[in-house]
Amino acid sequence: MAFDSTKYIWMNGNLMRWQDATFHVSAHALHYGSGVFEGIRCYETNAGAAVFRLDAHLERLFASAAAYDMEIPFTQEELSDAVCETIESNNFSSCYIRPICFYGSDTLSLHPRRCPVEVAILAWEWAAYLGDEGLVNGVRITASPYLKFNSRMMPTTAKACGGYINSILAVREAVNRGFDEALLFDSEGYIAEGSGENLFLARDGKLFTNNEESSILLGITRDAVIRLARDLGYAVEVTKFRLADLLAADEAFFTGTAAEVTPVREVDGALIGSGKRGAVTTEIQRVFFAVVAGRDARYADWLQLVANRPAYAFS
Ligand code: PMP
Repeated sequence: MAFDSTKYIWMNGNLMRWQDATFHVSAHALHYGSGVFEGIRCYETNAGAAVFRLDAHLERLFASAAAYDMEIPFTQEELSDAVCETIESNNFSSCYIRPICFYGSDTLSLHPRRCPVEVAILAWEWAAYLGDEGLVNGVRITASPYLKFNSRMMPTTAKACGGYINSILAVREAVNRGFDEALLFDSEGYIAEGSGENLFLARDGKLFTNNEESSILLGITRDAVIRLARDLGYAVEVTKFRLADLLAADEAFFTGTAAEVTPVREVDGALIGSGKRGAVTTEIQRVFFAVVAGRDARYADWLQLVANRPAYAFS
């Protein structure tokens, strides 16, 4: 199991043993996907375990909850502290962290009414999402027959549990046909994103990525990579793009907390550029992995040291 090394889970204000962190089968979220969540990474640095862009992730969590009119019964500071506590209690030097807020048990009417908002934080050790080999050699992706939902169906910028059924359909279909990942398009035929990653293209030394107008989740890794690329001197244009633009690109890569910076080498059998990790992607990866490991002082404020968190007492 992916969770073998996890001993403690934070739930509604307390750390508890893995086996005790359970919910009732009548929980609203289990039936309807009525929850919001985050995916965060903690990296090993010389100064100890550090969470990458914890504030940005928690801000997005609160924004996702607000999009569904869900009131999280903790403050951002409390959850920030709880994330660090969870990592510390499990003795992880690096891990993936999953805060989730969801409607618990009270009614199974679609309107959640008085369902309590339950909050839990899991952490576990999770290696490269698309594989170590994918980080070096790139992944093979396919245009999904499933469209990405648009914000008139569900806000794409909110990270809601139920929305991931769309991603699950797409990734299973892609893997069944022998690909590593699906590429979803929006309802106008523009590229949206991977099932769990944003996409960047590089052409003639310039970078391109899309935004919420293409039905994407606004990734925090995407935001970090835009800044890193601009600081490296690249022009980054935020624009809609189509399959033809991807096929004409010199390089392409996915970004995401789980996937980090993963080159895309092939789309439905057509090579992107040389079909190998390109120079721009390699440079972005190098800087990204230096930043998350705390080896670049310019971005130190993106790292929250687990041991240095502000002390906070739960009421
Ligand atoms: N799009 C989707 C659909 C995702 O699930 C993710 C992963 N959270 C991303 C993009 C990338 O977002 P981030 O960089 O914040 O992890």
